[in-house]
Amino acid sequence: MSFNEIISQEKAIKLLKGTLRTKKIPSALLFLGDAYIGKTSTAINYAKALNCLNSEEDACNICTSCKKIEQGLHPDVKLVTAEKDVVTVTSIREVEEFVSFRPLEGRYKVVIIKEAHKMNHAAANAFLKTVEEPPENTVIILICENIDTLPEPLISRCFKVYFTPLSTQAVKKILPDVEDSLIRIIMGKPGLFISRDVSKDIQWFNSTLKNMKEKNKKSPWKDNEDVKWWIDFLCIFLRDCLLGFFLKTSYCPILPSDFKLKENASPEELFNLYEEIQNIKRSIDLNLNKSIVWNYMTYLLGNLITIKKQETTNLEQ
Ligand SMILES: [Zn+2]
Repeated sequence: MSFNEIISQEKAIKLLKGTLRTKKIPSALLFLGDAYIGKTSTAINYAKALNCLNSEEDACNICTSCKKIEQGLHPDVKLVTAEKDVVTVTSIREVEEFVSFRPLEGRYKVVIIKEAHKMNHAAANAFLKTVEEPPENTVIILICENIDTLPEPLISRCFKVYFTPLSTQAVKKILPDVEDSLIRIIMGKPGLFISRDVSKDIQWFNSTLKNMKEKNKKSPWKDNEDVKWWIDFLCIFLRDCLLGFFLKTSYCPILPSDFKLKENASPEELFNLYEEIQNIKRSIDLNLNKSIVWNYMTYLLGNLITIKKQETTNLEQ
């Protein structure tokens, strides 16, 4: 993949290409934006461009260096991922050691921290030292979905690059064979469709919401990603409901759901709930307890959502 093949994200690509063209390479970059919109593939492409044997401004994709980076085999490029939802201080110590040696084959040592928002406090503090005094020819890319989780001194030392969800047209270009209704559900995040079975997840959302009605105290979420994905579904449902208020005649919801709003729900109530849910989503990466989130959601949605088939029953009953 070269920069030209990355669909959308023009502003981010322009910034990165500018650093390559002017040879003003930041030692630490912070890629910010939602999951599944191309931050990691752009970071890998930047690592390739930094070390490409045929070009200094983009990846050629045919030289040994580009191929090795693509396959995860380049000795100067390291990808760090979270283990059990946490990037630990042990991983950061490994990064410190990795960057302490000069590049073996390439022009730059590149470290990509894939879920930087999952760094715990100790890891973020340890990492601050590396970012403050970066070894020569080292580039560190922090990929982050939630800037609230990172300490301010770390944020301020990074060159920030913002990524945004893709337009429907751009997603269609990437996923030409996917049904329109599913494309609308993934909300501009094509990577979601590649990594998850969205049709199955719709059923999962419906059945977990039913569990909530049955006062099942055990949360159905395996990890933080599950919670965020579930909240995304809830937001689509609420968005559908809001559209239902305003476009009653021509309205067709995008999320197949067994639920509906209580009869006298107001748009204000929905807007407030939407806002509250977004706040919860932002707090998930601060290791909010999943059972607490589940119980709080049960409380928030309790008398607002009704099962369609049993119109007299609501979540509080
Ligand atoms: Zn190359």
